[in-house]
Amino acid sequence: TPGLWFVSTPIGAARDITLRALDILASAEVLVAEDTRTLRHLMEIHGLRLGDRPMIAYHDHNGAEARPRILRALAEGRSVAYASEAGTPVVADPGYQLARAAIEAGHLVSAAPGPTAAIMALSVSGLPSDRFLFAGFASPQAGARARWIEEIGSIPATLILYESPKRVHRLLGELCDHWGEMRPAALCRELTKRFEEVRRGTLGSLRDGIGDVAPKGEIVLVVGRPLPVVPEAADVDAALVAAMARLRV
Ligand code: SAM
Repeated sequence: TPGLWFVSTPIGAARDITLRALDILASAEVLVAEDTRTLRHLMEIHGLRLGDRPMIAYHDHNGAEARPRILRALAEGRSVAYASEAGTPVVADPGYQLARAAIEAGHLVSAAPGPTAAIMALSVSGLPSDRFLFAGFASPQAGARARWIEEIGSIPATLILYESPKRVHRLLGELCDHWGEMRPAALCRELTKRFEEVRRGTLGSLRDGIGDVAPKGEIVLVVGRPLPVVPEAADVDAALVAAMARLRV
């Protein structure tokens, strides 16, 4: 079917691809990939042939140049499949601007949904999933990072954060300082891969458990909502005295 199809691809285990995703990759007239080598490799694993179909690279650094070519293909009534390097396109990956442009030009925009590290991490974290916020990557830049920590810290929802293994120890330290060491959290590493590991505890225990050696592999950090503020006994006493005084008036 003509239109732009976002195709989710595995986040580790190559067999985590849906039959529908394979159908779309097999039949799309134009293939677009964040990393053309990764997509070629994935198609090879699953016995899909590219044939004489064009494969266009579309990533953070060439979006403005590549978009017109993709939009032209859509305007010609072709079916276009876009796969990012791993997981679901647009989720901490390119694709947003492409979706906007295709929608504005009146084309069909649809998807073959599938793996995304954020949702798998939420599922296995053991933290409440009734309300959650995906907050993406922390900015490596100090000011923006501090604002981000401040902004999302008080939201009453489970938070899902992406971070590089190099910086996760620092991030856990900063979160302990601003949100408190006791907030429940889960560190999910190498999901669906051979060395998959989920550590569940608090921000403090995860920070202490990591030590100073950067863990290897890809990481999602899931953090429980803020703990209810327990009033100090003295505050309760003072409030009671004040209430009694008001009653006597
Ligand atoms: N589009 C992808 C998705 O749907 O999850 C995310 C792409 S983003 C550029 C890459 C980040 O996703 C990594 O730094 C890590 O935080 C997270 N990630 C991707 N695959 C992962 C995996 N197998 N295990 C843990 N985290 C993963």
